[in-house]
Amino acid sequence: MIESQVESQNFIGGEWFPADSGATLDVVNPSNPAEVIGTTPDSGAGEAERAVGAAAGAFEEWKATLPSGRGAILTKAADILESRTDELAELMAREVGKPMKESRMEVGRAAAIFRYYGSEGWRMHGMMPPSTRPGVQVSSVREPLGVVTLITPWNFPLAIPAWKLAPALVCGNTVVIKPASQAALSAAAMMRALKEAGLPDGVVNMVTGPGGTVGDALVTDSRVKALSFTGSTSVGLGIQERAVGKKVQLELGGKNPYVVMEDADLSDAAAKIAFGAFGYSGEKCTASSRAIVVEEVYEQFMDELVEATKAMKVGDPLEEDTDIGPVVNSDQYEKILNDLEKARNAGRVVLEGGATGSADEGYYLAPTIISEVDSSSETAQEEIFGPVLAVMPARDFDHAVELANDTRYGLTAGISTRSLRYAHEFIARSQTGLVNVNLPTAGLEFQVPFGGNKESGVGGREQGPAALDFYSAWKTVSILPL
Ligand code: NAD
Repeated sequence: MIESQVESQNFIGGEWFPADSGATLDVVNPSNPAEVIGTTPDSGAGEAERAVGAAAGAFEEWKATLPSGRGAILTKAADILESRTDELAELMAREVGKPMKESRMEVGRAAAIFRYYGSEGWRMHGMMPPSTRPGVQVSSVREPLGVVTLITPWNFPLAIPAWKLAPALVCGNTVVIKPASQAALSAAAMMRALKEAGLPDGVVNMVTGPGGTVGDALVTDSRVKALSFTGSTSVGLGIQERAVGKKVQLELGGKNPYVVMEDADLSDAAAKIAFGAFGYSGEKCTASSRAIVVEEVYEQFMDELVEATKAMKVGDPLEEDTDIGPVVNSDQYEKILNDLEKARNAGRVVLEGGATGSADEGYYLAPTIISEVDSSSETAQEEIFGPVLAVMPARDFDHAVELANDTRYGLTAGISTRSLRYAHEFIARSQTGLVNVNLPTAGLEFQVPFGGNKESGVGGREQGPAALDFYSAWKTVSILPL
């Protein structure tokens, strides 16, 4: 069991500090809004500037540390995180309402990411192709960029910081991270694990506070060489304009389609769509928020979908069999209820969800399924980030692909089919960075590139070997021995 109240502070130069003003932000338990589970500093630009100074001061020594030595620290941090699985999973369940089974998997994934990039310390492959000039040896090696800013959302409190921190650090960069305030307690736990693993002071720093002040100071500081952001499309695209002269990577929103063809296993497809749409209340950038079903099996599929959805348990995220906990906070709760109002008018309500009780008892929302949604409606076009699924009929495969691509987003897409032709054509024609055949849109593997196209992602992929490309610069060396 974790302590009932958890305090997070800014982590600068290896020490913990409150905000200069002493002000704090409450982290409220979404299952019980009367319970403040912890606080985090309500910092300003000054704290952000000091954190960048600490990171800049630590850079040369960290750059000179052998990559295998950097990797060994990451591997040790992985062990520390894993040894605290129950404690950290419970913290996430109380901090953001993530169901325990998903929270536990997330701790495991964060540890695996640290191990994966830890082992990169022994590889960090460069290249040495044959030179085109006689007698010359030409090669290219990776160099760190310098100070890197990481800005993260609340929905994956450990995994997203992990998949940015681990490649940034193994490449030899120093870091300032600004987590979402709602997820700051988990981020602080990650800072503690890295310190205990032996990370030198100043190599990683954390500052919490409002995006508009702390985040903006980290985006505009000229000492910061690169910026990796995960969050909403509107905030991300605004940041891109202000991060002048920096290498920028943005992972943004999604409106992910899942196509069901006439030859699909309908009950398998329904289970995968229900999991993708409603698991963790649909609060995943990879959530399936649009199901596109060919007319031939439409009604039959809807019956399966309603059944699969009803089998999911809405309840306390601390209970092991819960699939859908509360949504993260009162703002999201109100926004989703408002979106639901519009969704009811955008099609036919097949499963009526919405508030299960009063907000004082937790921000619980049951799943809603809306059928025959017009693809041009707001319900089909805008990210709701809640347990709401829009279903659309398609005449045939071509129409299904057209509907799937009819969005400004391009993160992930899925299809249920037994046909290799449908599967391969869908893979080729889908305008997304990730495609899943007979697998949910939600869920990813950290050893392969991850990211979106169109307005879902800008500036290169995260995870797998692709992350090393973002967090390093190639230095090409030509030598002619005389
Ligand atoms: P958000 O955009 O509101 O906030 C993300 C982070 O940006 C937070 O740390 C916030 O404090 C900070 N921020 C806000 N305004 C800022 C500013 N002006 N300057 C600098 N920083 C600022 O997003 P959120 O509500 O925390 O997360 C949900 C969103 O994240 C959804 O849209 C979801 O799709 C997206 N997301 C995307 C991915 C992906 O990999 N594509 C993964 C997870 C979440």
